[in-house]
Amino acid sequence: MTQEKSFQGVVIKSTGSLYTVQTADGQRYPCVVKGNFRIKGIRSTNPIAVGDYVVFDKPQGAQQGIIKELLERKNYIVRRAANLSKQVHVVAANIDQAILVVTLKEPETHLEFIDRYLATAEAYRIPAVLVFNKCDIYLPEEKKTVRQCMELYQRIGYPCLETSAEKKINIEAFRQLLAGKTSLLSGVSGTGKSSLINAVEPQLNLKTAPLSSYHHAGVHTTTFAEMFPLSFGGYIIDTPGIRGFGVIDMNKNEIFHFFPEIFKAARDCRFYNCLHIQEPGCAVIEAVRKGEIAWSRYRSYLSIYEDKNEKYR
Ligand code: GDP
Ligand code: ZN
Repeated sequence: MTQEKSFQGVVIKSTGSLYTVQTADGQRYPCVVKGNFRIKGIRSTNPIAVGDYVVFDKPQGAQQGIIKELLERKNYIVRRAANLSKQVHVVAANIDQAILVVTLKEPETHLEFIDRYLATAEAYRIPAVLVFNKCDIYLPEEKKTVRQCMELYQRIGYPCLETSAEKKINIEAFRQLLAGKTSLLSGVSGTGKSSLINAVEPQLNLKTAPLSSYHHAGVHTTTFAEMFPLSFGGYIIDTPGIRGFGVIDMNKNEIFHFFPEIFKAARDCRFYNCLHIQEPGCAVIEAVRKGEIAWSRYRSYLSIYEDKNEKYR
């Protein structure tokens, strides 16, 4: 008998049954899962996702390696499985930051889309950053609007960065933002996600088809996320077909926890169970009235509360 030796690595690609595991030295191994990975608290269609740290045995000869253990996740994002209502699909795990690429025109990113994204990131406990791309395209008046928008979010505590992938403005700052971290990159299609990545890492082409080599036709219609290692350290998680996070179930009476400035103002509400809709003595409504909380933010809160506007998810 040969003595088996276990290694640790991170899953950078998953196609349902076959995983690519990368070790610290950059080596990659095709692996399968052995046994049953039941994760406490969630019912997921996939036991292991991109970003997961695992213990595995290296492939022997022509065989695949074997994933034996899943290390604890610091966070993970899910989407609902297509057919089974209670089950979720784990899209990715251990995300250091969620970067939303935003443009206020060509295409327009709606403020409500931004707010839903940020609230979802809060719910998942993933730090969020806004990158305002295409800063070269705005007329002076529009530029003012962009700056006001950045100030709005910076005041709440979200770091904002203005970039142009086209004119190579702040690309070094964007690279520093990514360096050494695992980042989820999101945004409405056309905002310049691929262009920004290409600006810092020309040899990576995010436009390439998400699945190619390992796909088993007919097994799943889901497209799987993939993690791209960056030459300067860190990874980009590409989630095909997801503009934001997708859907997360938020408890109606805790939605305001995911709007940091609303949560803060809520400490002064008269009623401890105030939901900031129309209660007397609501400090949130008062702060909106005084302009201390942006009307657009409050409106987004109401929209999520009322469960409207599926299209902004
Ligand atoms: P994605 O769908 O978010 O990946 O967006 P792409 O990277 O494919 O960019 C969409 C379009 O916007 C392309 O035609 C890019 O050339 C253009 N684009 C991307 N970034 C910028 C920018 O900073 N300024 C300008 N003017 N155009 C940009
Ligand atoms: Zn209130």
